[in-house]
Amino acid sequence: MSQRTPLIAGNWKLNKTIAEAEEFIQALLPRVFAADGVDIGICPPFTSLQAMVDSARGSAVRVYAQNMHQAESGAYTGEVSAAMLSELEVQGVVLGHSERREYFGETDKALALKVPAALEAGLEPILCVGETEEERERGDTERKLRHQIQEDLAKVPEDQLAQVVIAYEPIWAIGTGLTATPEQAQEACAFVRALVAQRSEEAAAQVRVLYGGSMKPDNAAELIALPDVDGGLVGGASLDPESFAAIVEAAK
Ligand code: PEP
Repeated sequence: MSQRTPLIAGNWKLNKTIAEAEEFIQALLPRVFAADGVDIGICPPFTSLQAMVDSARGSAVRVYAQNMHQAESGAYTGEVSAAMLSELEVQGVVLGHSERREYFGETDKALALKVPAALEAGLEPILCVGETEEERERGDTERKLRHQIQEDLAKVPEDQLAQVVIAYEPIWAIGTGLTATPEQAQEACAFVRALVAQRSEEAAAQVRVLYGGSMKPDNAAELIALPDVDGGLVGGASLDPESFAAIVEAAK
């Protein structure tokens, strides 16, 4: 049994207006009232961040943004900085989600700046890594994970590595209904931890590694119980308060 507190974080992606987000949080809070020993996060769109921080204040639920820019300020239309998020009192930020990498050209080079910028502003980054189906089939899963972890965390000092949450998300399992088998999830998450250990054994023992990819109430307990899995990053099943609360329950 690890000493790491599990984290269940719900990535809403491009879903929920402020009114819908309010409805969700009012339904979630009583359901997770007694969720001791589990950290709970929701990752709403930017527009609902302030409302969710206000509504979740005093509860066990923390709020994370889904993206940020690496610069402190400047001519980057449409972007927000780490300091702007921190001012909203959000807990952290999801970085390097495969959808951002694929549809918005988020690169490892940018992530190498984003992760330390988030830490510097007091935010907890949830860094997403993972392989495509093709990469898995041709035996390149470890190569891909090694590349992403080494590049994206290159500028994070050793004594701050444990503050990063790493979400292993096989791209073929995101939003597809296909879930990694417990063996696949354990193997990949252990590999991610071993990569962190190459920089710092101490950080590797503390760093939280999440699994993400079609996690649902009926498969969550088995995945979260794996020795190197410290919770989940949940997409589709996080949109419904009952399903999300059931996944939180599975992590207790
Ligand atoms: C995600 O978007 O991070 C994710 C894991 O999505 P889903 O749970 O829907 O596969």
